[in-house]
This record gives sequence, structure tokens and C-alpha cells, in this order.
Amino acid sequence: MSITLSILYLIATITFILGLKLLGHPETAKKGNLIAASGMGLAIIGTIFLHELDVPNFIYAIIGGSILFGAIIGWLIAIKVEMTKMPELVSLFNGFGGASAALIGIVEFGHNMGSTTQLITIIAAIVIGSITFSGSMIAWAKLNGTMWKDIRLPKYNIINNLFFLGLLTFAVFIVYSDTNNNLIIYALLLAALVYGVLFVIPIGGADMPVVISLLNSLTGIAAAITGVLYGNMVMIVGGILVGSAGLILTFAMCKAMNRSLGNVVFGAFGGNETAPTETGKKGGTIKKTNPSDAAVMMNYSDKVIIVPGYGLAVAQAQHVIHELEELLTKKGIEVSYAIHPVAGRMPGHMNVLLAESNVDYDKLIDMDDINPQFKNTDVVLVVGANDVVNPAAHNDPSSPIYGMPILDVENAKSIIINKRTMNPGYAGIENELFYNQKTSMLFGDAKATIQELLSELKGMQ
Ligand code: NDP
Repeated sequence: MSITLSILYLIATITFILGLKLLGHPETAKKGNLIAASGMGLAIIGTIFLHELDVPNFIYAIIGGSILFGAIIGWLIAIKVEMTKMPELVSLFNGFGGASAALIGIVEFGHNMGSTTQLITIIAAIVIGSITFSGSMIAWAKLNGTMWKDIRLPKYNIINNLFFLGLLTFAVFIVYSDTNNNLIIYALLLAALVYGVLFVIPIGGADMPVVISLLNSLTGIAAAITGVLYGNMVMIVGGILVGSAGLILTFAMCKAMNRSLGNVVFGAFGGNETAPTETGKKGGTIKKTNPSDAAVMMNYSDKVIIVPGYGLAVAQAQHVIHELEELLTKKGIEVSYAIHPVAGRMPGHMNVLLAESNVDYDKLIDMDDINPQFKNTDVVLVVGANDVVNPAAHNDPSSPIYGMPILDVENAKSIIINKRTMNPGYAGIENELFYNQKTSMLFGDAKATIQELLSELKGMQ
């Protein structure tokens, strides 16, 4: 490898690390993304033009054409995608990363000159890449609602574990048999694809964020393995960074939901309850309110906490909620936002969404810091959030979300919940907070309802 290329790879590596660091805060995240992407661009261009390869010109044309085609499609998707669809897009990207690693494995199997180490890397790339691809496609279908959230075969745990053991045995057999039969490698590819489907299909409800970050981490590991195959430092470093960042996130999400990774993967969380009604399972009934009464309650408060959730993102109500927050602040009311680590449909969803409407970062308070403040709060306004405020996580040992840390909004003096219907949230379970005597349900689309609330408040002294 030329010295210029080594220097380019070093620069690219530094940009990945710097980019990752800057991604840690909403204010610098955009810059971090651009820096890391430029480093990746540099590494790709360097690899194409500075590698000592003797290939005909038409190969360069194919590579250039593919990059251009991929870049145009990626750009079009990225500018069109809505914030609520981002997790699906992340899932697709994870899947494509895995598919690339598996395809590299298939191609290199044909070139393997009999080195066992190389064969192990090839097999690992095929297995991990294929599991990531098919698993991510299922996660994508679940997130966009194309597929039922949790499909479970009878004794699915035993079937999955046996299948996984069979897959590993098959992979080890291929390495030791030292075969160069292409059919056997396609059979391995197929088996790994099937396992990816079996692995993700039973997982549903609130466990999806963990699965997505786990798949994200697997994409990184698959990329690092292909880097080892080619002895390419920048692929190894990039892959390891994605792999480890994904794992750290996976464990952080498990912690946020008070579940172990094993429990998420083998526990098959999901709500199969019937839709809640206006009378709760424990007998309470809901109390309805309207924008005018809700505005009065807020107008005479000293402290208001806004809890944003997935519904706020769907309704694109981030701008109007910011206007409401500014108006309340002008009226001398203390306002902050309570941010649950898994609110929305991807990690950091609420932070990114509110940052988009220029909400002051200091007003976004993490769960652990805001929870003690609820007892001194006059009004909590929950907008399109459900699972992350469900007290069943504290009170009901039979609930699938029991033990998950939640925002303790029930400690506030009064609670206003804005959503459209009595339908459950992502986890598919009833929320006893709706039947609490301190709670008033403000039904309607978040954007339209908050807009009405804002107009009412504007007309008040
Ligand atoms: P939930 O999915 O629990 O609840 C969202 C609520 O928003 C629904 O009850 C829905 O009720 C309401 N809603 C939908 N559209 C609108 C609208 N236009 N206007 C007003 N309300 C609306 O969201 P949370 O944010 O509370 O919780 C996130 C859940 O998603 C958790 O279970 C979490 O584990 C899971 N999850 C999180 C991921 C992450 O990484 N953050 C990834 C994947 C899943 P209605 O239909 O009646 O309006």
C-alpha cells in the first residue's frame, strides 16, 4: 500500500473518531456526521485510485457508476424521509451493510487459496452479514407496520436455539472440510438468512429499539470482518467503531428498559391485549377535557413539564409545542421537557425532533433528573407519549413493561394527556395513568390540539 494511501486512511480514521465524538450532542451532531462522511469519502476515493491494482478501465467505470447510482438514491431517500420514518431507514441501512459483507464473503469464497484463517473470515462474513440483512429487513417491516409486531412459532425459543447451533455446526464443518463447493456456501447463506428471520420475528413491542441497535452493531462487526479479509485498516477501524458504538447503545437501551439482553432476545416481549376502552381494567373511568379548560389550567400554573412522545413526532407538532413553551415562559411559567431514553421510535428521537424546532437544549431534561421534579409540578402535558409514562412499570408485576424505568408523571398535581384515541402505544398495553383521578384526556391530533391550546392561551391574561 502506498504511503499516501496509508496517510489517507489515517486521516479517515481520525475523522470517524472525531465524528463519533461530535455525534454525542445534538448541537454538534450535524457537523460530526459531515466530518465522518467526508473521511469515508476520502477513504473510498483513495482506495479506488491509490491501490496498486491492475484492472481494466471498464472496472473503474462500473465502480464510478455504482457509486453515483447509490449516492443519488441515498440522497433522494435521505432528503425525503420523515423524522418518524428514520428508524426504518436505519434498519434498511443496517441490512444493506450486512448484505455487502455477505456478498463479499460469497465472492471471496471463490478466490480462497486454502488459508484456514481466510476461510474462517469468509464464513463469519457470510453468517453475520446474512443474519444482519434478513433480521434488519424484518425489523424494517415491523417498524413500518407491514408485518405483525410479534409472530411466535410454538416453542420458538427452542427452535431458534437449535437452529442457531445447527448453523454454527454447519459453518465449522465447512471450515474443517476445506471444501470449495459453491453449493454448500449458498446453503450456508440461506440458513443464515433464515436464522435472521427467526431471530427477529418473535421480538416485538418495546424491545424493538434494542434489536435495532444490536443489528446495527452486527453490521459493524460484519464490516470489520471483511476489513480483516482484505487487510484494510480503515474498514477494520470503521467496523469496530460501529460495532462497539452499537453494543454500547444496545446495553444502554437495555438499562433504560430494565431488561437484560438475553431477556430481550429470548423473552419475546409484546402486547397482545385487546384495545383499552374508556373504562379501565381496574374499573376507573377517564375524564375528558378540551383545549379551553386545559389552557386555563396551564395559565394559572407556576411549573409545567411537557412530555413528548412518538405521537408528537407523527403529528409534526414540534414547532407548535415550542411556540407553546415560549408563550408559557413569557407568562412567567417555568417550562421544561421530560425526555425518556426510549421515547419515540429510536434512541434520541425526541432530542433530535425538538432540536429541529430550536428548543433550547437546557430545557430538555433526562429522565433521572426530571423524575424528582414531578411532585413540584402543577401541570404535566403529555403529548403523544404512552408507554414511557405507564405506571404499570412500577405497580403491576404482571405487566410486560414491569421494571422499565418510566417518567413519574403521576406524581404531578395534574396531568393532561393529548392523544387521538384510547388506543395503546407501541408496547400494546393499557395505560392506567389515563384512569388516574388527576388525569384529563385531551383527545385530538397533537398538532391541531396544541395549536388550539396555544390560541386559547394567547387570549388569556
Ligand atoms: P407510544 O408508542 O407508547 O405512544 C405513542 C402514542 O402517540 C400512542 O398512544 C398514540 O395514541 C399517540 N399518537 C399517535 N399519533 C398521534 C397524533 N397524530 N397526535 C396525538 N397523538 C398521537 O410512544 P412513547 O414515545 O410513549 O413510547 C415509545 C415506545 O416505543 C416504547 O414502547 C418504546 O420502547 C418503543 N420503541 C422505542 C424505540 C426507541 O429507540 N426510542 C424504538 C422502537 C420502539 P393514539 O393512536 O390514540 O393517538
